[in-house]
Amino acid sequence: MRSSPCRNLVTGGAGFLGSHLVDRLMKSGEEVICLDNFFTGRRTNIAHWIGHHSFELIRHDVTEPIMLEVDKIWHLACPASPIHYQFNPVKTSKTCFLGTYNMLGLARRVGAKILLASTSEVYGDPDIHPQPEYYRGNVNPIGIRSCYDEGKRLAESLCYDYMRMNNTEIRIARIFNTYGPRMLLDDGRLISNFLVQSILGEDLTIYGDGTQTRSFCFVDDLIEALILFMNSSNSGPLNLGNPEELSIIEIAKMIKDKSKKNIRLKFLDQLEDDPKRRKPLIDLAKTELNWEPKIPFKKGLEITRDYFNEILN
Ligand code: NAD
Ligand code: UDP
Repeated sequence: MRSSPCRNLVTGGAGFLGSHLVDRLMKSGEEVICLDNFFTGRRTNIAHWIGHHSFELIRHDVTEPIMLEVDKIWHLACPASPIHYQFNPVKTSKTCFLGTYNMLGLARRVGAKILLASTSEVYGDPDIHPQPEYYRGNVNPIGIRSCYDEGKRLAESLCYDYMRMNNTEIRIARIFNTYGPRMLLDDGRLISNFLVQSILGEDLTIYGDGTQTRSFCFVDDLIEALILFMNSSNSGPLNLGNPEELSIIEIAKMIKDKSKKNIRLKFLDQLEDDPKRRKPLIDLAKTELNWEPKIPFKKGLEITRDYFNEILN
């Protein structure tokens, strides 16, 4: 008898990362249930799978329980851009807590493995650089980012307690800034803002003096890491990201120089609690998953610029 295909649940599957993950799982012949409340996700991101016999789309909010029969849960549902998670911070906290609680409950009931999309934001404004997994972070528990930072910290804590109490098989992925096609035009994150502004000939908006740094990972590299991680025997937390660190001003200059339009840099007020530096230590991912990002920033930026160009022109 042939073994039946793996049944995957992808929460947040209509979002940026979720839809790329859905593509990867579908292309490898697995079954996928995509669950989303469409807060920041779009049907167009997964429209190409609608009608496929291995694909199902469910409109549902993870803050409410749901009963499904699945083997693997990829729990990505949560807005990721600061403007989106700060839009209704209490809802973001509920999504992080109740959403993860409901998905862990489901994992326990059906004996599924669960991967949590956690974040480098659990390190807050780090005073250790680059950030290793053992670093416990510097988070402002009452700041405007705390619904997300603290929400994800609590989500990680819940995962570990489910593992200790119920032997639930968990994977905690601490994802660092990731970019690529399917980011929303009005997503508010750096790469989408800068690329859209440069295509439209607008000034590039820099919050603060632009000396703050980030390390950006191209989406294909990140999805590869998530798949390897789910199939490994390590629970994490595991840093997943590209250690190529750049200041915001360096990125702005790179994009300005590539633009055919006469664009300028526009300095705006610094954001509250904006982390000053961020770069992952990925030694653990290298040894545990035999993974490291392959796509250099310049290349990933070109692919993403082409995507936005197509939408905007
Ligand atoms: P995104 O906003 O594009 O996708 C999030 C998806 O979750 C959207 O489709 C949204 O509609 C859905 N969603 C939000 N709240 C929900 C709820 N209550 N119930 C059901 N669905 C809900 O963001 P993304 O960049 O694709 O991020 C996906 C996950 O990865 C998030 O958990 C985020 O915290 C994590 N992450 C992303 C990054 C990054 O740079 N992209 C970095 C660190 C962590
Ligand atoms: N940023 C900026 N201009 C923008 C958008 C973002 O200068 O138009 C800065 C932001 O202040 C932060 C960095 O770029 O220091 C990354 O921001 P993003 O929202 O992409 O991710 P996060 O802050 O969550 O790492």
